[in-house]
Amino acid sequence: MSYNAFELSGKIAIVTGCNTGLGQGMAMALASAGCHVAGVNRSAADATRERIEALGGRFIDIQADLSSTAPIADIVAQTLEAFGRIDILVNNAGIIRREDALEFSEEDWDAVIDTNLKTTFFLAQAVARQFIAQGDGGKIVNIASLLSFQGGIRVPSYTASKSGVMGLTKLLANEWAKHGINVNAIAPGYMETNNTEALRNDPQRSAEILGRIPAGRWGAPEDLAGPVVFLASSASDYINGHTLAVDGGWLAR
Ligand code: NAD
Repeated sequence: MSYNAFELSGKIAIVTGCNTGLGQGMAMALASAGCHVAGVNRSAADATRERIEALGGRFIDIQADLSSTAPIADIVAQTLEAFGRIDILVNNAGIIRREDALEFSEEDWDAVIDTNLKTTFFLAQAVARQFIAQGDGGKIVNIASLLSFQGGIRVPSYTASKSGVMGLTKLLANEWAKHGINVNAIAPGYMETNNTEALRNDPQRSAEILGRIPAGRWGAPEDLAGPVVFLASSASDYINGHTLAVDGGWLAR
């Protein structure tokens, strides 16, 4: 008999912001490992649905705007109605606003903090309550950033939000480990998605960034596949409150 600790057959995962980019890559990775997925997006996630169904998984498309906490109860309810339980939450949806700190607006501060930090916390809280009611633990994977570790430049609310996500990941792990809930985070490096389009379109910044990545390339959504399956599976049962950088070596420099 073989035992595969990365096996996720029949597990139910909520993945926010999975109609594109890293969220789509992680939703597909979880489906490849056997999960059914409740995707939460502002608009229909047809491409993600097609890819997950092609892998043999089920996908439900929950439309919600995560800039406020209002849809959270409904996200949990729709997932339970479709699948009857929840095993995994990937808190991925996030935005970034770029402006010099001297000019930065309150609107750009609130928008980023609300989506990246406030909703991340309250969705984790709602899902953890469900995990506890189910009585057999669960997995929460928050999406942090290199700016959980570093200051960055011209992205004050993003740095504050992602530094907050790393701290929150540790706090939630401390409180919920006793319930068999693992809370960890992935800190992606510089990945080729909409989030970094402005950087990649700036020849000077783009060359500076690439020159510092030991792996010699920007990351791709597929680079998060192994890490997210690991942190969503029983292979990581004794890992609590950790933020795993997946950055081609950026932080090692
Ligand atoms: P992306 O812009 O391609 O994807 C962001 C996702 O979040 C999209 O699906 C978007 O629809 C969703 N989203 C944003 N606001 C939302 C809202 N109000 N309601 C519902 N959904 C919303 O960018 P990405 O790079 O794939 O980003 C995914 C996560 O990874 C984000 O949290 C981002 O901060 C983080 N991240 C990205 C990088 C990178 O280099 N690309 C690096 C570190 C961290």
